[in-house]
Amino acid sequence: MTTDTVIKLHNTKTRKKEVFTPIDPENVRMYVCGPTVYDRAHLGNARPVVVFDVLYRLLRHVYGADHVTYARNFTDVDDKINARAAESGRPIGEITAETTQWFLDDMGALGALEPNHMPRATEYIPQMITMIEDLIAKGHAYAAEGHVLFAVDSWREGYGKLSGRSVDDMIAGARVEVAPYKKNPMDFVLWKPSSEDLPGWESPWGRGRPGWHIECSAMSYELLGDTFDIHGGGNDLMFPHHENEIAQSCCAHPEGEFAHYWLHNEMLQVEGKKMSKSLGNFFTVHDLLEQGIPGEVIRFVFLSTHYRKPMDWTEKKAKEAEKTLRKWYAQAAEALPGGQPEPHVVDLVADDINTHGVLAECHQFSQAGDLVALRSSMELLGLLGEDIPDWVKAPDVELSSHEARLFKARQAAMESKDFSEVDRLKTAYTEAGLEVRMSKTGVELVPGAGFDPAKLDNL
Ligand code: AMP
Ligand code: ZN
Repeated sequence: MTTDTVIKLHNTKTRKKEVFTPIDPENVRMYVCGPTVYDRAHLGNARPVVVFDVLYRLLRHVYGADHVTYARNFTDVDDKINARAAESGRPIGEITAETTQWFLDDMGALGALEPNHMPRATEYIPQMITMIEDLIAKGHAYAAEGHVLFAVDSWREGYGKLSGRSVDDMIAGARVEVAPYKKNPMDFVLWKPSSEDLPGWESPWGRGRPGWHIECSAMSYELLGDTFDIHGGGNDLMFPHHENEIAQSCCAHPEGEFAHYWLHNEMLQVEGKKMSKSLGNFFTVHDLLEQGIPGEVIRFVFLSTHYRKPMDWTEKKAKEAEKTLRKWYAQAAEALPGGQPEPHVVDLVADDINTHGVLAECHQFSQAGDLVALRSSMELLGLLGEDIPDWVKAPDVELSSHEARLFKARQAAMESKDFSEVDRLKTAYTEAGLEVRMSKTGVELVPGAGFDPAKLDNL
């Protein structure tokens, strides 16, 4: 435990970078909004996971691994899940179980540690019902037509503070759903009725299911208490989701303060554009891993942009990251795992998660040949564990015969002016995951991350 590190975090609540003082250094508590599980996580979904994983690692480093509690939920009851079940004909439980495991596998490939708690919404329905009953009893919610709504008017003094808007501004600017059972257009759903074909639970308001926001309030209360240290998520969640979480939690538990520090990551884009299915630049983490881009490379690219800035995923960045990591891993292999990171490197992460700064330090360590400092810094960033990743290790195949063959084919082609055999070989090597480098004096075949030696067998 090295409590002399001063952690500073940008708090959305105050719009300032503040010194982080935990409520209880023996048990530092963080909650991050997790995925809705109906499909593979897209690359943007991975950004909060990696950002808060770095923060989790820092907190563990500073306060001790056993003194940090990190909870991240799975939203496994949601209309998008219901729609997916209806269109595929598959049971909901099967879809959510499968996607939950995909998420854990994909995030594991990015080097993300599993949080201490990963609550599923469907396992906390009684706690949500209790909280809703409490909100009604305290005059902050009302039941109408099988629904229960949070009455935003009952907490005008607090609603909108996080995102910096007044209730009136929000009414004017928001595309809120106008429903006959709402007293005020800003009121949001805590509970809604379910027809027989939809997932539902018995409640004082009839058979129904919870709204999305109440889930995080009920689960964070259950696992972390009425007051905890850090709440995180993407900045698209600030309004309405986080605003609603705050309203529910502060009104149900006025004795507590809910989260002290609110952290929001900016969005991820692809080649300068918003990632979207209609632009054809939408892809999942799994897609990239399948293409042979290692998880460490994805993580490196993420870490190269500060979490509060929009981050642009580009193929060029991924290629450069791979090259850098190959070099660093080869160097880090010379040092022992588990070394203490340099205090000034820890300070960089502690300065509002300046991962970009740490990568710049790593470049310096690499150039100076300070392999111990390089390795411990990479470990702090979660780029390296005990073992050097397999994809870095040179594949155990003899490439020189292939290089000679391509070289000879090219010499023959220069004479005959028929390059078809050269082209055929080049295509085959590229498809096998080799980079073909040809110069006047020779041919070099360099294995990429997705190199598959079996593809050379029938050449
Ligand atoms: P969702 O499943 O849509 O609720 O999103 C899960 C998490 O991913 C939330 O914390 C979102 O803020 C985050 N997220 C979604 N899209 C992006 C994106 N393009 N860039 C960064 N984070 C995102
Ligand atoms: Zn949430």
